[in-house]
Amino acid sequence: MTTLLVWRDASHYDHRGPRPCTICHRPTPLRSHRGEPAHKTCAETWAAAHPNEIRFISDATTNRRDADDHA
Ligand SMILES: [Zn+2]
Repeated sequence: MTTLLVWRDASHYDHRGPRPCTICHRPTPLRSHRGEPAHKTCAETWAAAHPNEIRFISDATTNRRDADDHA
């Protein structure tokens, strides 16, 4: 089962240009939290194949409904 990663943060996009993905070796402008070049889909596939290893993680998300609950 594949868990979809949330990589919405701008830090996942490297404006310096594409580098070879550490998994499929094709160029990607995307970076993991560690700065590893990796396509998001490749990271998701890798994470699904290595469920006991934490290499790729999702961004911390804020729940907007909770954030609005202070009226
Ligand atoms: Zn890739």
